[in-house]
Amino acid sequence: MKRPLKHLHKRTTDKHDFFDALFDDLVVFILSKLSSTASSPSQFINILSTCKRLNRLGLHRLVLSKAGPKVFSIKAKNWSEHVHRFFKLCVNAGNLNACYTLGMIRFYCLKNRASGLSLMAKAAMKSHAQALYSLAVIQFNGSGGTKRDKDLRAGVALCARASLLGHIDALRELGHCLQDGYGVKQNVSEGRRLLVKANALELAFVIRAVTSASPSRSLSTSSVLTWRAVDYTVCPLLSDYGYNVAVPVVQPVNWFMREWFETGPGRVEMVAGLRLCAHIGCGRPETRAHEFRRCSVCGKVNYCSRGCQALDWKLRHKMECSPEEVVGEDNNGGAGGGGVDLGNDDVV
Ligand SMILES: [Zn+2]
Ligand SMILES: [Zn+2]
Repeated sequence: MKRPLKHLHKRTTDKHDFFDALFDDLVVFILSKLSSTASSPSQFINILSTCKRLNRLGLHRLVLSKAGPKVFSIKAKNWSEHVHRFFKLCVNAGNLNACYTLGMIRFYCLKNRASGLSLMAKAAMKSHAQALYSLAVIQFNGSGGTKRDKDLRAGVALCARASLLGHIDALRELGHCLQDGYGVKQNVSEGRRLLVKANALELAFVIRAVTSASPSRSLSTSSVLTWRAVDYTVCPLLSDYGYNVAVPVVQPVNWFMREWFETGPGRVEMVAGLRLCAHIGCGRPETRAHEFRRCSVCGKVNYCSRGCQALDWKLRHKMECSPEEVVGEDNNGGAGGGGVDLGNDDVV
């Protein structure tokens, strides 16, 4: 066994090592696998700074097109022209995750609405469920325009497409729309059915996450996942079914937006009176004053969507909402609390 190892060592210290002998195609193939499975941006970016050859091949169109969502999970404080350029390279390579993420950042954070919408639409046309859902939220609120730019029917249609692709928030939103007759003909029983289905899908998602994280544990002991940067470790919706499991990790771009508007460059707008969606895992800001729905009971919190409102109600707001704090004025139809049953119209 010793001889081959010695031989190997000798070869790798030679001027022309094994790596040099590998064909570019093979290196690109390996890098594509790496970029699609990287668990953080640095895991991929570090490869690019290793040597000139890896830098050249790492920026190959095929490698960039395969980059997974976690390659784009950057922090708001790390946003720079350099990062923007990297995103653009990935967009040009046809990467849908890059299209969606940069679309959201441009639309909400950089206020380049047209370009942001066009990038999200590019991803949506290729059936990117998150892009479809985000476009739906924009249509429901008339974001980037005036109140008259709201297109509820378009929002419902986009939600329907995203929910067919298994997007749980879109399914929940669609359920609430049907229950309330919002942008679609009211159908309470179908709405309730979709809300129950959304919760069943969420349960399946969490069970998969928990069992893959810790195969030896059962659900009864499964507060094993934590919602990153959030104290709430138990999924409030599933707790209604008697399960004590963690909620899924929030999408990177949603954290990016929350950081951008709470502690980053977007803080100025929040100080100026625009508000963030109160659901901790959303991060969407208002694009004009009084754009979001407000809790009609306390008037203190605002939401970009019915889905966010329902989740936040069960997650924390039902503990905080106080009817005595009524402000009087009601915008956008308002919001409300009360009730605990899943699939119920407890948050209107
Ligand atoms: Zn929201
Ligand atoms: Zn409230």
